[in-house]
Amino acid sequence: MNINTQVSTSKRILLASPHMSDEGYEQEYVKEAFDTNWIAPLGSNVDGFERELAAKVNVNAAAALSSGTAAIHLALKAAGVGTGDIVFCSTLTFSATANPIIYQGATPVFIDSDYKTWNMDPLALEAAFEKYPDVKAVIVVHLYGLAADMDRIMEICSRYGVTVIEDAAESLGSFYKGRPTGTIGQFGIYSFNGNKIITTSGGGMLVSNDEVAVEKTRFWATQSRDQARHYQHSELGFNYRMSNVVAGIGRGQLKVLEQRVQRKKEIFEFYKNSLAEIEEITFMPVNDWDQPNYWLSCATIEGDITSIDVMNALDKANIESRPVWKPMHLQPYFEKYDYIGADVSKMLFEKGICLPSDTKMTNEDLDYVVTAIRKLWRKSHV
Ligand SMILES: *Cc1c(COP(=O)(O)O)cnc(C)c1O
Repeated sequence: MNINTQVSTSKRILLASPHMSDEGYEQEYVKEAFDTNWIAPLGSNVDGFERELAAKVNVNAAAALSSGTAAIHLALKAAGVGTGDIVFCSTLTFSATANPIIYQGATPVFIDSDYKTWNMDPLALEAAFEKYPDVKAVIVVHLYGLAADMDRIMEICSRYGVTVIEDAAESLGSFYKGRPTGTIGQFGIYSFNGNKIITTSGGGMLVSNDEVAVEKTRFWATQSRDQARHYQHSELGFNYRMSNVVAGIGRGQLKVLEQRVQRKKEIFEFYKNSLAEIEEITFMPVNDWDQPNYWLSCATIEGDITSIDVMNALDKANIESRPVWKPMHLQPYFEKYDYIGADVSKMLFEKGICLPSDTKMTNEDLDYVVTAIRKLWRKSHV
């Protein structure tokens, strides 16, 4: 048992935790599934969740799946990615972005971040196309609710005729130039994992304006079962569909998405304003084109006090924080694959910190976090 768990009277402040609606919308939809005994597999909540999410992000079709990872996997399959193909992928991300490339027997090439966005650098992408002109697909991530430089990325990819998959797992509720992230490329994916801006306890969604392609992913996700009375399979299948109970939670959560974004924005602005006098702290870039969901409030730290010092101090105060994602090209499993860039992502990992961004935090909690951070610099300056 560590010291923190012994401080049982003070609750731990979390990075991001599930936050169900005050109105109990989620339970109403789940109750309906119970009342009709429509627990699994599919049913009205799955259809409703797909329809309501598609309407929310203004896209033609959506497939509700068991996870964001499953959605990336099926998007790659829909893009025709198979054995031996090359896929460009943002290096600064969670491993779930890159794993499905391997599931499909393809080879990732990792692309560095642009300091201006923290996301895929269009210059590094351009260089990657020169090296691998026969690439099959590009997975671009919108980290922490910040949009990648999509106009330039889409221009390069369409010049080469390559499918773009947007990993918007962290950015449901974010906009790029007024368009929802996840709806700009040919395919987009969202995650409803426990710490995301809205959650179903676990789940994902694949979206596209190509309804035929989305229908095909639903087919693959239900074991590729052909239309026949007996069990007939002409293609490899997956068990990737979302259950009707889980989808009920999603329908309820979708109703409070804007509320969650609003609170996340207040949290980010509070940190930014309250810590403005500490010059060593630089908050994540919000560009003119961004309307972020502020999923996590992140920053980089320069100088003698490092991000690790800050994380240690917060941990002692019973506050959860964590580093920015460790780039894929630095991961033991993925380091054998090619990487193109100038080590911006490595710098962001080394200097970055994600501050608690839980929408359940009170204003007093936020004051407590800021005080714990300020203390570090005050100490060092005397
Ligand atoms: C959470 C996350 C995923 C995976 O989503 P799951 O629903 O957990 O499978 C993929 N990409 C990024 C960037 C994520 O943060």
